[in-house]
Amino acid sequence: MVDIRSVHKRFGSLEVLKGVDLEVRAGEVTVILGPSGSGKSTLLRTINHLEKADRGWISVDGTLVGYRRSGDKLYELPEREILRQRTRIGFVFQNFNLFPHLTVLDNIVEAPVSALKRPRKDVVETARRLLDRVGLADKADAYPKQLSGGQQQRVAIARALALEPRLLLFDEPTSALDPELVGEVLDVIKDLAHQGTTMIVVTHEIGFAREVADTVVFMDDGRIVERGAPGDVLERPRHERTRAFLSKVL
Ligand code: ATP
Ligand code: MG
Repeated sequence: MVDIRSVHKRFGSLEVLKGVDLEVRAGEVTVILGPSGSGKSTLLRTINHLEKADRGWISVDGTLVGYRRSGDKLYELPEREILRQRTRIGFVFQNFNLFPHLTVLDNIVEAPVSALKRPRKDVVETARRLLDRVGLADKADAYPKQLSGGQQQRVAIARALALEPRLLLFDEPTSALDPELVGEVLDVIKDLAHQGTTMIVVTHEIGFAREVADTVVFMDDGRIVERGAPGDVLERPRHERTRAFLSKVL
């Protein structure tokens, strides 16, 4: 489903991704753990071509992201092709990133109508169904600032789902939330996991990783240090750096 091969990325003299290989199977949840600055967000952003890899490549559902291949060369796709690809890869950010001037419903309706040219009436129907699914049917006409952080994040998830993505990426979706609001957002993500949504989730919520992940990946210093089933990586880490990290967050 997702194939990440030998991805390198540097910002100036700082090498942030030092050759990352990762495969994610359809329907599986991969949780990425790792210390601040280890390259987790950069890796996620590279998956939908918000960052361009310097070397290596990524494919989603058998399609190269951001490039087409001709012989053994890669050519970057035109911007509108990249935008179209990006609509199929949902991205949920730490800070929700809702449009403050749009109602909850219009936040969800905007992209399918403007980017995918879907009929507004159909999209509104889908949006209401998604709001119901994240437990916010009664908030359709509210504005983001009238909602709690947990509610805003659930709207952001509904907004991502409205594009019917084949892959969902989450970058620390609960780390900006007050502790008592974390559970309601994790519950929505768990629900998606149980319905077989393919997801890559960067989070420090070890309990969530243990319960929901099919694979846990530990990143440090631009590399994947260790990966495996949650029971192995979290309970019996093989690498000292993984142990040191877990002893700090557990
Ligand atoms: P955190 O847990 O704090 O979110 P992270 O693992 O997500 O960390 P990244 O955000 O991927 O780490 O950053 C990895 C390194 O790359 C950091 O040293 C960061 O300062 C640097 N970096 C990230 N984006 C840029 C950029 N656009 N320009 C320059 N340096 C960057
Ligand atoms: Mg980050």
